[in-house]
Amino acid sequence: MSNRSIPESSQLSANTPADMRSHNRRVILHALRLHGSLSRAELARTTGLTPQAVANIVEGLEAAGLVRQAGRRRSSRGQPPIEIEISKDGGYALGIRVDDSHLLAVAVNLVGEVIETRRDARLPRDTGEWVDYVAEIHVGFAERHNVDRCLGVGIVTPGPFDVDWPGIPSPGSVRALQSRNIVERIALRTGVDVFLENDATAAAIGERLYGEAKDVNNFFYVFVGEGVGGGIVIRGQPYRGFRGNAGEFGHIIVDPAGPQCYCGNKGCLGEYLSLASMRQSLGPDFDLSDGNHPDFTRWILQAAQALSVGLASVENLFDPEIVIIGGTAPTWMLNRLVEALGTLRPSVRQDGGQQRLRLSKLGEESGALGAAALPILAATSSV
Ligand SMILES: [Zn+2]
Repeated sequence: MSNRSIPESSQLSANTPADMRSHNRRVILHALRLHGSLSRAELARTTGLTPQAVANIVEGLEAAGLVRQAGRRRSSRGQPPIEIEISKDGGYALGIRVDDSHLLAVAVNLVGEVIETRRDARLPRDTGEWVDYVAEIHVGFAERHNVDRCLGVGIVTPGPFDVDWPGIPSPGSVRALQSRNIVERIALRTGVDVFLENDATAAAIGERLYGEAKDVNNFFYVFVGEGVGGGIVIRGQPYRGFRGNAGEFGHIIVDPAGPQCYCGNKGCLGEYLSLASMRQSLGPDFDLSDGNHPDFTRWILQAAQALSVGLASVENLFDPEIVIIGGTAPTWMLNRLVEALGTLRPSVRQDGGQQRLRLSKLGEESGALGAAALPILAATSSV
């Protein structure tokens, strides 16, 4: 009952029979999430499990309400096999996205559909109030959606966590949620698994489960919001780093002679690309809908220049299958950003014109969806 940031190694090696069963359950659920519906024979072929193991696991998952029979596929010859699919209402997760001015909570079913939404602009002040508040949201949702079906609560907020850096609050951050100690307290109070993650990593997980990265195992997610963040997914699992702060993409230095960043360095990417930097450059009253304003055009070209330097580093470091660009910035702005990027800089990913960038399509709710994806990923993903 804690933030289940299990090291990758323990997810890949299942040692005891109980672990093995649970690992294989997630293998089956992952295959169904990827393919929609499959027969038992197809599940055996896709997963490499024996037909007997598949039959036993499917039976267990059916009894738990997590999968169901989807009927038979139409076939011109013979009796087609029964297909199995994820039972979308077999469980739900609660996702809460918080920054210093807003809270968006969603209940999401097993296929990523939002079944209930709650917004709040009045936020708790200290850790104790936050524990009470999240517990109250959990109870409210559980009353309407059956507490036994709740897979857990994911909370997403700007990082970093448990570190005295940069020494002042980062844009949008909430002090009471900057330490993972709160996870244990909320878990004890609610009785369900609780996850706390930075918004970029959670958005990357949301893309992996419901978005542009369903079929991608290795990718980097660029989160453009008040600040700039990054989410790293390796072999289908988020890479969090030593203290869960990996992927601080906004603080990679793109020009050591550039403007002073609040982190102590100069010329960090976030000084060029973030919404905060846009307001600083164009003035606080700049009309966000005026994408044709020459000042905006100048700003976005400069932001794209800085991003392209950062992207070359990311590609050379991680050799990702794809880089996804998303975040809380408006979709039209992200589109303009990709346009302004033009041809990407040379890197190890320069391999015969394969697509290197995709735009997120999850939109404004991506943070909360990503938060809800944390318990769902823990329960249903294996690779
Ligand atoms: Zn910085």
